[in-house]
Amino acid sequence: MALPVFKTGEAEYLGLAGSIPVRLRQSRPIGGRVQDRDPRRSLPRTDAVLADPRLESAASHLGRARVKRAVTEQLQALRTDVVSAGAGTDAASVVDAVLRGLPDGATSLQRVINATGVVLHTNLGRAPLSPAAVQALATAAGYVDVEFDLTDGSRARRGRGTLAALRAQVPDAEAVHVVNNGAAALVLATLALAAGREVVVSRGEMVEIGDGFRLPDLITATGARLREVGTTNRVTLDDYAAAVGPDTGCVLKVHPSNFRIEGFTRSVDVLDLATLGVPVVADIGSGLLYPDSLLPGEPDVTSALRAGAAVVTCSGDKLLGGPQAGLVFGTADVVEAMRRHPLARALRVDKLTLAALEATVDGPPSPTHRALHADPDDLRGRCERLAADLADLAEIGAEVVRSDGVVGGGGAPGVTLTGWAVALPESYAAALRSGRPPIVGRVERGRCLLDLRCVDSADDEAVAAAVRAVGAGGV
Ligand SMILES: *Cc1c(COP(=O)(O)O)cnc(C)c1O
Repeated sequence: MALPVFKTGEAEYLGLAGSIPVRLRQSRPIGGRVQDRDPRRSLPRTDAVLADPRLESAASHLGRARVKRAVTEQLQALRTDVVSAGAGTDAASVVDAVLRGLPDGATSLQRVINATGVVLHTNLGRAPLSPAAVQALATAAGYVDVEFDLTDGSRARRGRGTLAALRAQVPDAEAVHVVNNGAAALVLATLALAAGREVVVSRGEMVEIGDGFRLPDLITATGARLREVGTTNRVTLDDYAAAVGPDTGCVLKVHPSNFRIEGFTRSVDVLDLATLGVPVVADIGSGLLYPDSLLPGEPDVTSALRAGAAVVTCSGDKLLGGPQAGLVFGTADVVEAMRRHPLARALRVDKLTLAALEATVDGPPSPTHRALHADPDDLRGRCERLAADLADLAEIGAEVVRSDGVVGGGGAPGVTLTGWAVALPESYAAALRSGRPPIVGRVERGRCLLDLRCVDSADDEAVAAAVRAVGAGGV
């Protein structure tokens, strides 16, 4: 009986070179004996598949390693899955299958259409960048004068354009600094003001910011000691005053941005904390630069500085709608101490962040801003058009329903944003997620809601087409 023998190429591809691949094949006879007509024997070699011009073209923008991995995986799938091995095992079919599975770009991240109605969805990357910011990223990707003075060829202040743009928006700040994220901004403020000393903070503000990270742990990790005052629901200025002493590095005011305590509560605002005679650090979380009437409970940088905060910290990719970053606004001496701290270098942002941040602050309204301020009637009109577009698919019963959007991302937990959605059968949620691009809706009371608040209106037709494609697939 002739034993199937691996060709050299196959043995190498399986990582079996040097071992005894023949035995491996031998130990898995089909139907009790090895079959000579096993379609798996006729699989093309990896090299032969890779030589296809269509895959060479894919390799030129995705990288050869990525494409080779996809070919290897496809051949492996054909080898192990007898059903699919029965068809499409010739080189051209293998290439077709590989091309279908390859991403459009060289990142494994997939563009997602956010139809959840959650504007800052942490799992979907928080704030989407504006076209202006995307353009700035592309510019910054090459050699740029991020730290270079083109007039005299000398070294220049890193990110000076970004810092100037931020200062122009917040004239009350004597100085501005940018770090990697909001947590880094708080860490750096604590390091500069209170390492080895005490940070006085209310027990009602000891928040967890997500994924198990807690602000109290962050602060003690800097070498500062926490001095907790008040209770979960109430704290008074006297509580703070009793705790402040020669060992106080700063008083910290944290905006509890992802939850709300209601009822018998009391807190002390920055204006009063600033009378204590020690620097007040205000972590406002979301990054509003000035008040927004849509979000009355949300603190902003300008107001916190005017109230007397020495330093205000926040994120760049929440309500500001920019790239991930931590923004620091404050008095010249404290910001300079932060900038000069040895760990500042470990928290510094790259040129891409600086470019996207400047374009966000100086440029047209961000997608985050537009989604937050979307006109409910406009959203309703778009939903009605989508539902009408799908009306011929009677079995899905697409229907326009009220849908309250939320800010999300640890911001404005009490605020609901009046809006609309198209309701589909619940089974559409999973099917739409597996489309290209994936559409992420919200499952509510047994239905899949597509809320268009965070969907670019240019994508409305793509959404309709995706629903149609799912319908045709018979979900
Ligand atoms: C979100 C948030 C942080 C953390 O900011 P990141 O940019 O996610 O690091 C810290 N403090 C508050 C109050 C927040 O809302």
